Amino acid sequence: MEISHRSADFLELAAQMEQDLRDLLGIPANYKVLFLQGGGAQQFSQIPMNLVGQSAVCDYIDTGHWAHKAIVAARQYAQVNVAAAVDFGSDRRAIPRENGWRLSDKPAYLHYTANETIDGLEFQWVPDVEREIPLVADFSANILSGPLDVSRFGLIYAGAQKNIGPSGMTLVIVREDLFGRAHTYCPSILNYQVQADYGSMYNTPATFAWYAASLVFQWIKSLGGLEAMRARNVRKKDILYRQIDSSGFYINDVSVADRSHMNIPFRLADQRLEDLFLAGATERGLIGLKGHRAKGGIRASLYNAVSEEAVQALADYMTDFERRHA
Ligand SMILES: *Cc1c(COP(=O)(O)O)cnc(C)c1O
Repeated sequence: MEISHRSADFLELAAQMEQDLRDLLGIPANYKVLFLQGGGAQQFSQIPMNLVGQSAVCDYIDTGHWAHKAIVAARQYAQVNVAAAVDFGSDRRAIPRENGWRLSDKPAYLHYTANETIDGLEFQWVPDVEREIPLVADFSANILSGPLDVSRFGLIYAGAQKNIGPSGMTLVIVREDLFGRAHTYCPSILNYQVQADYGSMYNTPATFAWYAASLVFQWIKSLGGLEAMRARNVRKKDILYRQIDSSGFYINDVSVADRSHMNIPFRLADQRLEDLFLAGATERGLIGLKGHRAKGGIRASLYNAVSEEAVQALADYMTDFERRHA
């Protein structure tokens, strides 16, 4: 934690880390990989600051909590067209399919949230939009959970703290031809092109977060890369959704095709039992299950670092709790 980010040791680590990530995701050469700060939330503003350019409008898909925050932030910089939105009142919430999206004529970009961490929805496909419309996606919660065709995107971003490493670092993968569109008042430190020119070291980077991330990239490689990671994550989510769907005792209200592999929110049919459920879970060492304060209920986040054994332990507890309280 004390060595200089200008030291040979650290520069070697930085180069290796970027190469490992490029290997994992198969990132094409015409994309820059940036390791920034400010979290996923800062990107909500940084993206329009850098990409709106001369366009009057940018398009967003509103799928829930995080998409909504991105939309609100973008409204400071451009006219936002919400091209499609989830029907939040539905008791089987689903992501609207592309044939119903109402895109603008020439949007600066189309933004979507690949995984809604709080609402429990995840795109299991990459939208197929016209080549001229840069596709921008928030992968904060599901980056590296499986393979991804980066060449389909103009920009991908992810805060580190869910699937990469400790908080303090934000990954941005951006296609080079999108440089040169930044707003006149975009500060240098927030300008993607400037950060690319400086190797993400326009100022001191979050060195410890970089170090931890470098180890995580090597760990994923050692497990067999992103295909292996996907297989592992599919086994994990199957354990839990099977458990939830096995009776009416637990409820997840997301359409099956759009269920997140990473974040599984659920309720107890009898919501009065939820505090008891959480307390019993804590006693068994099953922690972090309280739903987000915006939504309540229970939420199991099955990020890459969560083992299959841990998910099985939760499923076993759920069986046990149901037997005692149904
Ligand atoms: C957590 C999260 C964010 C916010 O990330 P911060 O790093 O806290 O700013 C944004 N988008 C998604 C999808 C998230 O899961």
